[in-house]
Amino acid sequence: MKQLWAPWRLEYIQSADQQEECIFCLAQRLDDEPGLVVRRGERAFALLNRYPYASGHLMVAPYRHEGDLGGLHAEEALEIHDLSAAAVRVLGEAMTPQGFNLGWNLGRIAGAGIVDHVHQHVVPRWAGDTNFMPVLADVKVLPEALESTRRKLAEAWP
Ligand SMILES: [Zn+2]
Repeated sequence: MKQLWAPWRLEYIQSADQQEECIFCLAQRLDDEPGLVVRRGERAFALLNRYPYASGHLMVAPYRHEGDLGGLHAEEALEIHDLSAAAVRVLGEAMTPQGFNLGWNLGRIAGAGIVDHVHQHVVPRWAGDTNFMPVLADVKVLPEALESTRRKLAEAWP
């Protein structure tokens, strides 16, 4: 199995425990732009990952601060699924990836930066994106790239 190499995530994961507030609880209180929020649903929302594995890397989380996957209410789980499916469609149209990885990282060892607020990752994939340079090139212009990507996806959302 090929893995995406995103070395800045290691630094992020190592520092995640020192952060004062859960980024999902923080982002939902911020305006869309500073929070990188792409779509707000009734019980869950979609936002761009500030430390992406790939450009267009979205996360879908419940508003409620819940760390147990099994602790999600059925309505929350359904809305997370619907937002994730819409994210795949929107990313597919806006960024034309060749595939997607969707999944939950549970626990620090599995790569979760935030362990006490569950979230599903939606990561678009392109052939060759395991190479370091295309990803690094995106990261060098990260703040602007993130904001323009956020706007593009928010506007494309059905
Ligand atoms: Zn939280």
